[in-house]
Amino acid sequence: MSKELEVLQRRFDRERRARKEAESLLEKKSRDLFESNQTLSNLALSLEDSVNERTSELERAVERALQASKAKSEFLSNMSHELRTPLNAILGFSDILLTDPVEILSEEQKDSVQEIYSAGNHLLSLINEVLDLAKIEAGKLEVDCKDIDIAPIVMESIALIKPLAQKEGIEFELECDPEASFLVYSDAKRLKQVILNIMSNAIKYNKKEGYIRLLKGEVVSDKFLRFIVEDSGVGISETDMSGVFETFQRVGDKTSIVEGTGIGLPLSKKIMEQMGGDIDFSSEKGKGSKFWIDIPLAKGIKQGDLI
Ligand code: ADP
Repeated sequence: MSKELEVLQRRFDRERRARKEAESLLEKKSRDLFESNQTLSNLALSLEDSVNERTSELERAVERALQASKAKSEFLSNMSHELRTPLNAILGFSDILLTDPVEILSEEQKDSVQEIYSAGNHLLSLINEVLDLAKIEAGKLEVDCKDIDIAPIVMESIALIKPLAQKEGIEFELECDPEASFLVYSDAKRLKQVILNIMSNAIKYNKKEGYIRLLKGEVVSDKFLRFIVEDSGVGISETDMSGVFETFQRVGDKTSIVEGTGIGLPLSKKIMEQMGGDIDFSSEKGKGSKFWIDIPLAKGIKQGDLI
């Protein structure tokens, strides 16, 4: 064999070996890839199984929670009805005892019956609040919104709450014109309930000889009348603010003797939302608070129309 042929033969052998090595490497890589692919498919399958299992577990948990919540709302609603019947009897009979012109009570007896009467009334309003809350949670609270004037509602609320304020030496200051009429779209009974709640809080969490200021109504976003109640009370710290609208949460001074349940504001918020409005506040600890409600304006009413 000539020298040139030998060189060619060696080169050919080298290339064949290199090709073989490359082929076996490729084969190994393909096998590895196939195995990885297999493992991945298995993993995907088991992941899918786990996801399906977790999803049905979650669905079952949601179903259980919904049933428990429904049962709780029904229980609260039934209990409230059951409690109201005997309570109304207690209130009715204490009223008869207090006003009976024939059997007149001694002063001491009168004081005791009066205590029964006011405690019973307090209990009745708590029961009513719990009942409202249960209704809202069950989606059964009905509101009957119409075009109404808010001014008489505010004046009636002030008249109802004034004796409580006077007992604490708290002054009512009216920046809004009591003669003015502000037409809003709302349920009068429910609106009064919310206004009474924020006004009574403004008294409960005020200081002796403090004030409650009813600010001039203002129109916000061309859609709502903002009714603002300002107080000179204890205020709410920044850390406590998030708890104010949480059901059964009472914030602030835990040693305070002020009575309450932490239902009023969360209930008021839900009522306002159901009526297409809202409630919110700003406050500074030790300096007082401003609570406001945004009530949808009566249909077709704009800022300039407010008289
Ligand atoms: P309650 O008065 O029955 O505790 P609310 O739901 O009406 O319940 O109020 C929740 C909490 O918000 C109260 O416990 C109180 O700490 C705080 N709060 C409400 N109104 C005021 C206010 N005007 N000034 C200071 N704190 C307030």
